[in-house]
Amino acid sequence: MAKSGNVLEEVVARLEAAYGRPEPPPVTDPLELILLENVAYLVGDEQRAKAFEALRERVGVRPESILSAPAAVLVEVARRGGVHAEKRAERLREIALVALEEFGGDLGGVLKLPPAQAKRALKLFPAVGDPGAEKILLFTRSSPVLALDSNGLRVLIRLGFGEERKSYAATYRSAQDAVRDYLREDYEWLIRTHQLLRRHGQELCRRSEPACAACPLKSLCRYYQGVVAPGAGGRA
Ligand code: SF4
Repeated sequence: MAKSGNVLEEVVARLEAAYGRPEPPPVTDPLELILLENVAYLVGDEQRAKAFEALRERVGVRPESILSAPAAVLVEVARRGGVHAEKRAERLREIALVALEEFGGDLGGVLKLPPAQAKRALKLFPAVGDPGAEKILLFTRSSPVLALDSNGLRVLIRLGFGEERKSYAATYRSAQDAVRDYLREDYEWLIRTHQLLRRHGQELCRRSEPACAACPLKSLCRYYQGVVAPGAGGRA
């Protein structure tokens, strides 16, 4: 349930003023989201989108077409998405196999399950953990959860929503627990929040040497006030 005038709303408003309103996600089909994540590795969004388009055009994005595609074509497509193309081509086949064997080729039913069950089902796919499963539930507008990628998670932790724990999973959970009471049950806002936090983590709040001096969030940020400029005052 959202709190009125809450600090997360202020964070999102400032990020949107800085970066502009994000475009809606280009892919919202659950299987396509999984393929998009795996068709490329360690590349920017633009190159990932190109690799995915190559998959769509040269092979198709239905499980049957992926399983019947020549291995060399899958590798060629995966190569457009960066390094380890053979491994990722094999993973595309695994994804297609899981989609067919576990779900009859249609993930529509999974999205209708209660969120905990839906997440368990989605985690049957290779390389899909809680963050990936939650992103699928959010982008398909199946469950109003604030999914976070590693960039968005880092931003929230530095701002003071949650804290670093021993494992990534525990840190992720800590941030989500901390923001839960500040969320709107509004898919459009949650998706924008995911996108804006991610972009901020990529551009200014980088893993090393965050550009705090230029950051529109510094008056709200625990890291800035505690590490970069101690004595700068509390959160507004
Ligand atoms: S002030 Fe620095 S640490 Fe805080 S959100 Fe901005 S860039 Fe990140």
